[in-house]
Amino acid sequence: MASAPVDDDMFDEFLNQRGHDTETVGWEESYNKKQCPDCGGLHDSGATECSVCGWSPV
Ligand SMILES: [Zn+2]
Repeated sequence: MASAPVDDDMFDEFLNQRGHDTETVGWEESYNKKQCPDCGGLHDSGATECSVCGWSPV
């Protein structure tokens, strides 16, 4: 506990600061559209993957 954390912990913290979930990554929602959390591209609600960068929720 008192010693320095391993890199995995630092990575988790990095992710926690950027997003809400480190496990389940989903679309951001913006103006009733889905927004790719990776590149920020907007897609309609039926989109299953980002046509800009190819990202898809896991
Ligand atoms: Zn994208």
